[in-house]
Amino acid sequence: MKTLLEMPAVRECTAVACSFNDGGCHAPAVTVASAGEAASCATFVESSVRGGIAEITGSVGACARTDCVHNTNLACTASSVQVGSGVTVSDCLTYQPA
Ligand code: SF4
Repeated sequence: MKTLLEMPAVRECTAVACSFNDGGCHAPAVTVASAGEAASCATFVESSVRGGIAEITGSVGACARTDCVHNTNLACTASSVQVGSGVTVSDCLTYQPA
């Protein structure tokens, strides 16, 4: 059994407007949503509050993009993911339609 910290890491995130982004993602577990053509990070939030845990790198907790080759049972099996500007400002750029 894996722990949350062994889930796919957000190895890079260029959505710098997000409160969880401080030189990278620090959200304990992001959710990726199926939004039209996009695999969009639903955890993206703009706030004056600094989000997340500074000591950790973000990871993918759940993903609704079931048509992605890396998706099994609404979870991500990629070794890591990259998030950045695509259809939205915070798309999962590792998304690969089956
Ligand atoms: S790589 Fe695929 S399964 Fe993993 S978070 Fe991105 S869209 Fe979801």
